[in-house]
Amino acid sequence: MRFVARFLAAVVLGTLIVAGGQPTGAAAAPAEVELIVLGLHPAAAARKTVALTFDDGPSKYTPQVLDILKRYHVKATFCMLGQNAGTYRKAAQRIVREGHRLCDHSWNHPDFTDLSNSAARSQVVRAQNRISAVTGRTPKVFRFPYGASNARTRIVVRNQGLRILGWTVDTRDWSRPGAKTIENRAVTGTRPGAVILMHDGGGNRSQTVAALDDVIRRLKAKGYTFVLA
Ligand SMILES: [Zn+2]
Repeated sequence: MRFVARFLAAVVLGTLIVAGGQPTGAAAAPAEVELIVLGLHPAAAARKTVALTFDDGPSKYTPQVLDILKRYHVKATFCMLGQNAGTYRKAAQRIVREGHRLCDHSWNHPDFTDLSNSAARSQVVRAQNRISAVTGRTPKVFRFPYGASNARTRIVVRNQGLRILGWTVDTRDWSRPGAKTIENRAVTGTRPGAVILMHDGGGNRSQTVAALDDVIRRLKAKGYTFVLA
């Protein structure tokens, strides 16, 4: 349902995308119908901007991603798992040092719709604390694992002072469809204000690394400017 709502919103609204996420037939109190902005701010979209986001890291592939971003002077947003920030400390620190944005992606990637409020809060706070301890910087942005949330868990996240980050272009790079397919999905799916979802962790990301160079090159050739999500 959540997916359908987002998909329809994407078709209707282009890059200014909102999703209430309420199941059909549910008696949604007005307070529960809050918005998730999946794309960039309309003012940013007007300037033909795009944001690269990398989830589930850091991992041993993160330095390769960072090398490519550095070569093109592109800044990106890294939605990292708290437990990985502790394991790949140097990569986490390099993300901050090289001017990229940190994003909390939970401690270890549960489906938040299955969690109690206190368990959800613990996932967020534990990741915040670890990322902060490792990098010296506390994320101000949160992305739900699987993009799975409900009104209840969105409130939990917002109560921690975090902005919720979505995406508009899903490369599905995690399924390893081949570097060329990842590249084409990213480039052809991008409209001004797009937020592209890729992964620098969670498995073998050599295809993502192989695709990234041409993703950036082709989007730059189309006149896009890369911004932080
Ligand atoms: Zn994830």
